[in-house]
Amino acid sequence: MRTKLVVGNWKMSPTSREGAALVEAFIKQVDYLWDVDIVVCPPYVAIPRVRELVKDTQVKLGAQDVFWEDSGAFTGKVSARMLSEFCCDYCIVGHSEARGRFGGYEPPIGTREYFSETDETVNRKIKALLYYSISPILCVGETKPERSVGETEKVVERQVRGALAGVDPSELYTFVVAYEPVWAIGTGDTCDPGEAERVCAFIRGVVAGVADQDLAESVRILYGGSVKPENARELFGQANIDGGLVGGASLDADGFARIVMSA
Ligand code: PEP
Repeated sequence: MRTKLVVGNWKMSPTSREGAALVEAFIKQVDYLWDVDIVVCPPYVAIPRVRELVKDTQVKLGAQDVFWEDSGAFTGKVSARMLSEFCCDYCIVGHSEARGRFGGYEPPIGTREYFSETDETVNRKIKALLYYSISPILCVGETKPERSVGETEKVVERQVRGALAGVDPSELYTFVVAYEPVWAIGTGDTCDPGEAERVCAFIRGVVAGVADQDLAESVRILYGGSVKPENARELFGQANIDGGLVGGASLDADGFARIVMSA
C-alpha cells in the first residue's frame, strides 16, 4: 500500500518571509493529518526559515533543483551536500520549466535559453541526490505537439530511462516520479483523470522494466498540472496516481490544505 504524497512547488514565488507566513498558515490546517506525506519546496533562500517552521511537524522539506557536483567553482549552484545540511528530504529534478519546455506560461523573450536541463543532467542530479539520501522527484511529461502526434509514451519512457541510466535499483525505494504533461502546467487545463491514470500506469510499467516489479509497485507516481481543490479528489482516486505535484495552488494555504485533505 503506497502512502499518498502531496508536494507543493512554490517556484520563484514567495520570499523567505512570505514563505514562512505561508507554511505557518498551512501547518495549522494539516496538523492532524498523519496518513498522508506532505512536502513543500521553497526557493533556496527560504529553505532555512521554512525548515525551522516544519521541523517538528509532519510537513517535509524539498528543494526545487540541485547541481550534481559536491562543491567547487560553480557559481550560483547548490549541491546535494548543501541541501542535506538543511535536512531536505526531497528534491525536484527535470521540471519542464528547467528543461525549457513551458506550459501556459511564456517566459520573457530572451530567457528561455537559460533553461537547459537534459536527460543526462537529470541523471547526474539523481545520482548526486541518492548519494545524500535525498529522494528525487523526477518530472516527466510531453508537450502539446508531442501529444498531438501520439508521442506521449515515447517521450515519458525516454525521460524515465534517461534519468535512471546506471542507477542501482536498490537505491530507488524512495524515488518519486511526477507525470506532468507540459500543456497542463500553469494553464488551468488539467489532464483528464482517466488519461492521467493511463500514462501513470504506463510509467509504472517502464519503472518495472528498468528495475523490477517490486520496485515499480512501491514507487510513488504523482500527477502534476493545474491540480486544484476542485479536481484533486478525482485525480488522486485513480489506482496509479499516488498524489500530486502542485504549483500555483500550493501558494494558497487554504487551497493547498484542501488538496492535501483530498489525498
Ligand atoms: C508544477 O509547477 O509542477 C505545476 C504542476 O504547476 P501548476 O500546478 O501551477 O500547474
